[in-house]
Amino acid sequence: MNYKTWLLSHTKKHREIVGRLKAKGFSDEMVIDYFEYENMRKNEAEFCLLYSEGKKCHDINYLNCYLCACPSFRFSDNGLKTEDGITVYSECALSSKNGSQYEHANTLHQDCSGCDIPHKKEYISKNFDLDWLKIMERCEKH
Ligand code: SF4
Repeated sequence: MNYKTWLLSHTKKHREIVGRLKAKGFSDEMVIDYFEYENMRKNEAEFCLLYSEGKKCHDINYLNCYLCACPSFRFSDNGLKTEDGITVYSECALSSKNGSQYEHANTLHQDCSGCDIPHKKEYISKNFDLDWLKIMERCEKH
């Protein structure tokens, strides 16, 4: 499965959960709280492969999955661009100071392991939209 196919499938799952919660009368804040890792692991096992392994993508206490996949992460299976013979496969639209890039065999990849921006409740609340794709579109303009 390439990244775009995975992203579309993940977005579909996200939309289905949000639609179900809204139909039950959840407020926006309740929707955000529902996406906390511990709750999602218990109630939405299909949303992430890591849930069944009891693992988190980031080793942090509070982890919210609402903005997964991170709307600022850019990736192309064919490379986003090539500069000085190096193909950039992924990058951060926010240029997060806690993110980094690593080079391997003339390719450059974004390393988000040190960045928890999209997993914090404050950031999600500030950028909230029921439609994850709209948040991604807004990030494109930053
Ligand atoms: S934020 Fe991390 S733990 Fe949550 S769904 Fe995404 S990859 Fe899985």
